[in-house]
Amino acid sequence: MKLYNSLSHEKEEFKTYEPGKVSMYTCGPTVYHFAHIGNLRSYIMEDVLEKALRWEGYEVKRVMNITDVGHLSSDADTGEDKMLKGARREHKTVLEIAQFYTDAFFDDCKKLNIKYPDVVQPATGMIDSYIKVITKLMDTGYAYFAGGNVYFDTSKLKKYYVFNDHDVEALEVGVRDSVEEDPNKRNKNDFVLWFTKSKFEDQALKWDSPWGVGYPGWHIECSCISMKFLGEHLDLHCGGIDNAFPHHTNEIAQSESYLGHPWCSHWFHVHHLNTASGKMSKSKGEFLTVSLLEEKGYDPLVYRLFCLQSHYRKALTFSWENLDNAAAAYDKLVRRIAALSREGTADAAAQGPWRTQFREVLDNDLNTSLAVTALYDVLKADLSDADKRALIGDFDRVLGLELLEHAAALSEGEKAAPAGEDAGEIENLIAQRAQAKKDKNWAEADRIRDALKARGIELIDTKEGTTWKKA
Ligand code: AMP
Ligand code: ZN
Repeated sequence: MKLYNSLSHEKEEFKTYEPGKVSMYTCGPTVYHFAHIGNLRSYIMEDVLEKALRWEGYEVKRVMNITDVGHLSSDADTGEDKMLKGARREHKTVLEIAQFYTDAFFDDCKKLNIKYPDVVQPATGMIDSYIKVITKLMDTGYAYFAGGNVYFDTSKLKKYYVFNDHDVEALEVGVRDSVEEDPNKRNKNDFVLWFTKSKFEDQALKWDSPWGVGYPGWHIECSCISMKFLGEHLDLHCGGIDNAFPHHTNEIAQSESYLGHPWCSHWFHVHHLNTASGKMSKSKGEFLTVSLLEEKGYDPLVYRLFCLQSHYRKALTFSWENLDNAAAAYDKLVRRIAALSREGTADAAAQGPWRTQFREVLDNDLNTSLAVTALYDVLKADLSDADKRALIGDFDRVLGLELLEHAAALSEGEKAAPAGEDAGEIENLIAQRAQAKKDKNWAEADRIRDALKARGIELIDTKEGTTWKKA
């Protein structure tokens, strides 16, 4: 598989340290609020990557942390712990907040058909590991103690901006602008490994350490959790693009200084989901959740399809209109699959070329939009219905759209057009009627409805759009 690697800045052949096995780490959520659908875009695309690797025969072990301490309101070590802010907002304890939003996150993942990771580790459960790694970094001169905190000394590295194929200056200015200068830091990019002193003395969770009672910085958790469960050589590290700097940059700095050798060979970054007004962000407080999509009548898998229709390395703009298009596409796909006969036996040899085509698009930097197109190609192909069903089921092991399950769940009435009718044509008429209504051309809208009624097809208008059934 060819996959873009943020470390080399190019598409390269994905290689693993142990043949046939992938160690995969994912930065998990900071559990002070619901995940928004932007966060979930990252997890959906990482899930497809994991499923694609499994589909290609790799044995994958995937580990995810849960950030329940140490992620301050600025990624550059200033501000208050996000968890504490969340707890105050909801008049609950930090642990209650963490449990509630961790459960909510995995509920959302389930609805989006995102596989539960093999290991899930909350950051608060690994304090001994952080102390062990920080102690070694202190002993080897990579870390220093100043003003009550332990900092990583970035001047000790040959190269710090590992992902930066853009403008170093721009990044530095970004850092400078967003951060109040911390006088304890020897270099402006140094970052905290362990806090005992911060402006916010009411930190709820604190632990004893050789440097005093305190709490870990955000970055150290991912290095330690990854090394504990996946060893010293990591194949694949994933996250949203905003994590590349400073979070992943700092993870590499501390992990490689601790290990004394290169650590993770492949970095997979998912680009952002934006709204018309910019990046969707939890800290801004205004964001869309899976529950909101459900309340508006969307199946969460429609959002999954919406994400798959774009490449993970391109920013994606959310709009209700785009989601409606995905909903219509999903509905159409399911209906076309439901109309396939369940009779007959599949012929693996006949399916071969379509499997090869599907593999090629996955292998080309996980081109999920062409992988979705492959479903349509199969539906149109000169293959038996049994082969079509087999291929769709197989591709869906990667795409995770639960197509066969949804097709099977369609009621008999909904399933197929009445004898002699073409479902595509009916959808088309429905779309024309919607346009006529938009244009306030009521006569035309009624004409289409009546024409369909005369053919025994009843239209049902809901706030999410129009469906139809055999009257
Ligand atoms: P957080 O819960 O803030 O730690 O973020 C969880 C994951 O979501 C991280 O991998 C982030 O990089 C990613 N993320 C945050 N905002 C967005 C967004 N608007 N679009 C896509 N991914 C995002
Ligand atoms: Zn992380």
